[in-house]
Amino acid sequence: MSLRRTKILATLGPATDKPGVLESLFEAGVDVVRLNFSHGVAQDHIDRANAVRELTQKTGRRVGILADLQGPKIRIARFTDGKVNLDEGQDFALDLNLGEHDGDNTQVGITYEPLAKEVVEGSRLLLDDGRIVLDVLSVDENLRVNCTVIVGGALSNNKGINLLGGGLSAAALTDKDKEDIKTIGKINADFVAVSFPRCAEDLHEARRLVEAEGCYAGIVSKVERAEAMEAMDEIILASDVVMVARGDLGVEIGDANLPAAQKKLIQRSRALNRAVITATQMMESMIENPIPTRAEVFDVANAVLDGTDAIMLSAETASGKYPARAVEAMTRVCLETEKQHTIRTSGHRVECQFDRIDEAIAMSAMYMANHTKITGIVSLTESGSTPLWMSRISSGIPIYAFSGRERTLGRMTIYRGVFPVAYTLEKQDHAEVNREILDELKKFGQAQQGDKFIITKGDLTGQEGGTNALKVVTVGEGLTP
Ligand code: PGA
Ligand code: MN
Repeated sequence: MSLRRTKILATLGPATDKPGVLESLFEAGVDVVRLNFSHGVAQDHIDRANAVRELTQKTGRRVGILADLQGPKIRIARFTDGKVNLDEGQDFALDLNLGEHDGDNTQVGITYEPLAKEVVEGSRLLLDDGRIVLDVLSVDENLRVNCTVIVGGALSNNKGINLLGGGLSAAALTDKDKEDIKTIGKINADFVAVSFPRCAEDLHEARRLVEAEGCYAGIVSKVERAEAMEAMDEIILASDVVMVARGDLGVEIGDANLPAAQKKLIQRSRALNRAVITATQMMESMIENPIPTRAEVFDVANAVLDGTDAIMLSAETASGKYPARAVEAMTRVCLETEKQHTIRTSGHRVECQFDRIDEAIAMSAMYMANHTKITGIVSLTESGSTPLWMSRISSGIPIYAFSGRERTLGRMTIYRGVFPVAYTLEKQDHAEVNREILDELKKFGQAQQGDKFIITKGDLTGQEGGTNALKVVTVGEGLTP
């Protein structure tokens, strides 16, 4: 059985709440689900998390849970009639003092106070992910921003606003986010995503708040501000996982700059030993259609070739007509693309000196796996560091990460090419442990007579950072320590 290395992250929503749909996502092989705190109330997310946990119990498939904070998304208020149509060349104003429901064809309210102070004549505002474009003509003393419509069209309630080039100063964590972190602590999510971080400190603050709830989730930085691209390395290093949040990022830096930004972010994240998600509009047309467009097939394939750990589905699964088919389509494209020779070999860190023995073992295992006939790699891991190091190296060989730690198993659901296996270490004898490992792999149909596996582990004391052994075992041959 061929295993998909690239992980699939699916957003839950009304479409996946329908009976049988979450089950169908599990069957299609979803690896991580996203709870989107921009929509719904706390109880919706708690219910969804419980449903995921129940299915994990039932199926034995550990699916990760990523809780995505709303962050300071700047939005327009509402229209009396729900929506309006804007014509190119007409005037349109954003007014802080206008009533929340009083928008019409000439003006609409906003909730973000500093807007009038942060734009000047000539600033370009992008509404609804760039569908509507406004240029600022002037700013009145009473905080009304007068604009002219550059690209018109339908505009409905609560759509987002971005400033081209970035520069809106809103803090990354809002009061709502802080409240939501309490819910996330109860859910005990595997990952928490921070929206619109500007710098490392935004991520440190999120980590402190999440940990204060007794939750040790991996922190995901959503790179979606122009400023974040400039602070790239500091943001990557402050995160466990990076998200190329193409929706908002594309609006802020301009869509034509996105492909280069995606490649750079993936490359830097891998080089700095972090996992990375590519997100937004990957299978957009599947919200309505059972098959993707050719362009979407290429987009998924290109992200795989770029080296992403995971690819994300948003409305395709949360509110689309074909949630499971979207996961199946991604799977099909990943499996074929992963056969490409260029992403199965690696020159990663061949010039490097390693400070740590466990890191050197991880690198050696991958070098050996890529250059000899090896069926798979098994890493017995406490913290998950060894599989993370291993998975930064391009390879076609599966990495089975055996761990007894729930938190580690959850974290590893997103690493490319890493397959978490729940395993409690009870034996102290290396030969016996090796046998148990092979038995477990046989159970999943991943080990046949004559297959060679590399096993890395420590002194079997359950200590972190203790990996110091690399052993090659052959299925069916006598096992020695
Ligand atoms: P969102 O983030 O879906 O929460 O907006 C992803 C993006 O901006 O691409
Ligand atoms: Mn976003």
